[in-house]
Amino acid sequence: MRAAVVGGGVAGAALAWRLRTAGVDVTVYAPDAADASGASGGLVRGFEVDAEAAGQAAESLAELRSDERVRDWAGYRETGSVYVTAEGVTPSVDAVEAALPGSASVVDGAELARRFGFRDLPADAAGVVERHAGHFSPARFRERALRWLAGSGGDVRAERVAEVRAGAAVRTEGGVAAFDAVVVAAGAWTPRLVGGEPLRAKQIQYGLYRLPIPCAASFVDDRTGLYGRPDRDGAFLLGMGCDRWDVDPDAVTPDHDLAGRVLDAARRRFGVADGAAGPERVVASFDCYRSPAGLRLVDVGGGVFTFTGGSGGAAKTVLAASRRAAAELVAS
Ligand SMILES: Cc1cc2nc3c(=O)[nH]c(=O)nc-3n(C[C@H](O)[C@H](O)[C@H](O)COP(=O)(O)OP(=O)(O)OC[C@H]3O[C@@H](n4cnc5c(N)ncnc54)[C@H](O)[C@@H]3O)c2cc1C
Repeated sequence: MRAAVVGGGVAGAALAWRLRTAGVDVTVYAPDAADASGASGGLVRGFEVDAEAAGQAAESLAELRSDERVRDWAGYRETGSVYVTAEGVTPSVDAVEAALPGSASVVDGAELARRFGFRDLPADAAGVVERHAGHFSPARFRERALRWLAGSGGDVRAERVAEVRAGAAVRTEGGVAAFDAVVVAAGAWTPRLVGGEPLRAKQIQYGLYRLPIPCAASFVDDRTGLYGRPDRDGAFLLGMGCDRWDVDPDAVTPDHDLAGRVLDAARRRFGVADGAAGPERVVASFDCYRSPAGLRLVDVGGGVFTFTGGSGGAAKTVLAASRRAAAELVAS
């Protein structure tokens, strides 16, 4: 089988690596450009409120922790994680436990306040604390995977694809090349290259704040939408959902109002006194979203597939999703 993968972000690189491992003749089109994988916060954990999503994230994390090469490619650092949500999390915690025994425990609001410094939590708040969670670098992983591919008989080209054609062909400045399958893994640029499914580019943003937050783990607080992780020298990387949809991935600008709302939410949630400074730095980027969310292979016809839709979370799921997608493509 001859397959082309269009896009060398973490999704395209992981899929190309899986395909080459399965003996497929792979060409990856991976131009050097600022992308979601280069900007990613890289928080990985098993727990998600949706039990199916939790199963996929936990499966990815289990592979990441148990495979020395993958751990090295990802620059994995284990910091632990806490997810603040409402009661009723048993199915998702069970999914995490199945892949990562002994990692997850459920705590109440009082313990969230005592151990992590959360304030003003609603009465039904519950937290899922994970020992085995941390930071995965999508940029490092993709760089290592593409390097491995180039040394293992794969063809890695820094060319941009101008057009994807039915019949599994791509056109670049160098001409037209035909394959048995073309997979478009071009993240937020995917809708420009191929139709056939509702995909949307959405802004994602975080900032580096210097705030006295007493939480030593990565956290998500789904009651406010605030998430973050400790960074170097006492700084904290903090973000919240952005409502800028259908952005142009080549022209994203910082949302300064959002940066202010993040500061307010962090001050309230961790009881930080007024007067704390705004972000030292804001990172504004984007990702490709779909509903239901998640990175997966979709057949759009004519030998063309998409592998995108990470929806702000593909660092967590890319290992399991790429394994599944490669198996589906080889069987197709
Ligand atoms: C700021 C930020 C923070 C995030 N934090 C987290 C987190 O904490 N945890 C988590 O799990 N996920 C997180 N994510 C989400 C995760 O990083 C993304 O889901 C993931 O990186 C998407 O990877 P991708 O390969 O699909 O897309 P991208 O990384 O955007 O890659 C797409 C690639 O396609 C290429 N391309 C585009 N057009 C063409 C073309 N015509 N020809 C050839 N190539 C083309 C681009 O150059 C690019 O390299 C975050 C994302 C952002 C932006």
